Amino acid sequence: MKKNILILNCGSSSVKYELMDMDNSGIVASGFIERVGMEDAVIHHHYRCGDGYSDIKTSKSIPRHREAIEFIMNLLMDDEIGVIEDIKDIYGIGHRVVHGGEKHIESAYITGEVKQDIKDCIDLAPLHNPHNLTGIEACEKLIPDHHQVAVFDTAFHQTIPRHTYIYALPYEAYSKYGIRKYGFHGTSHQYVASRAAEMLGKPLEKLKIISCHLGNGASACAVKEGKSIDTSMGFTPLSGLVMGTRCGDIDPAVLLYLMNKEAFSAHEMSVIINRHSGLFGISGVSRDFREILEQAKEGHDRSQLAIDIFAYRIKKYIGSYAAAMNGLDVLVFTAGIGENSVELRDMVCSEMEYLGIDLDRKRNEKYTGTEGIISAADSKVTVMTLPTDEEFMIARETLRIIGELKNV
Ligand code: ADP
Repeated sequence: MKKNILILNCGSSSVKYELMDMDNSGIVASGFIERVGMEDAVIHHHYRCGDGYSDIKTSKSIPRHREAIEFIMNLLMDDEIGVIEDIKDIYGIGHRVVHGGEKHIESAYITGEVKQDIKDCIDLAPLHNPHNLTGIEACEKLIPDHHQVAVFDTAFHQTIPRHTYIYALPYEAYSKYGIRKYGFHGTSHQYVASRAAEMLGKPLEKLKIISCHLGNGASACAVKEGKSIDTSMGFTPLSGLVMGTRCGDIDPAVLLYLMNKEAFSAHEMSVIINRHSGLFGISGVSRDFREILEQAKEGHDRSQLAIDIFAYRIKKYIGSYAAAMNGLDVLVFTAGIGENSVELRDMVCSEMEYLGIDLDRKRNEKYTGTEGIISAADSKVTVMTLPTDEEFMIARETLRIIGELKNV
């Protein structure tokens, strides 16, 4: 039987998908549907065709996630551009689920109980979990006999120790409402850490790794002996590093002060810290790092300031995680900014000799958007750039969980 895994990431008005052939880790088809719920939803489909790939873009009315997934299935099995013949050629479906709460410390085979758990976490991830669940239920209706697995963004961080995940608030905040650090981007950090170890030919269990996922959302993670022991996002994805439009760490009293001064409602304040802050808020130009870099090069002062604050925050987290792990072996940069920005990596790694970080400028310039070691040959800490692959990780987890089930 073919080991094709369908990976689904259902958002509020979008569905991203990828069909991966796990026998040779190749992408058979991928794409995304935007504007789900609208008359003019847009479908971008990329599919294997002969020795290469082709793309199509089309638009049609897609009222719900269920129709979106049905459309994807039909594309995959289409007479002309299809990549599989039968629905049975899909071995299993892996869903990206943002929040698994404290209960889910790893990926889970989807049952009624797991669905209830996802529902129970809606309060903690109101923008994501409801849509992730809708995707799961749509698949159950469309292809009821298929194996489905939930891969949680929070699961990898469930190894973070208690003294790290409890906030210094009255303890009831945790015991009554579950307010604690959960962390996100777990699938990416897990992939990056394991791939770094694989590339270096060293056992993951022997390494102290800091993974910096720097995209529109950004987080750092301390991975000691293969386990997440701390991460910069917290109860929500708002804390930690500066992001495209999110503020990251600030003094919480600032919120109270601003709400008082400007008579902002909680909702207005939430919009400010989630959508009007970060690189965008500081620069006043854009949330896009490339644009900010260009503006800074042309002398735009606040763009340069945004870059400086962004880089400094990352540097601080690296220092604190090296302290938390009592050392550092590998520093990895991933996601859009981490994989591609030579300037940013250079800024973060400069004046870090005390930690044993010695960046090789030529290597740093050479590796953009690809896997590579960018530190000097004798650098104590190996610095790497490594494209993240959350879809592959979800597919691998889906296969593993289905495999375990079959072995029972
Ligand atoms: P998301 O979190 O939405 O998946 P990405 O991982 O795609 O985001 O990262 C998007 C960010 O990466 C943007 O700020 C973009 O400007 C930045 N980026 C992409 N390519 C480059 C590049 N060559 N140099 C600097 N920044 C880049």
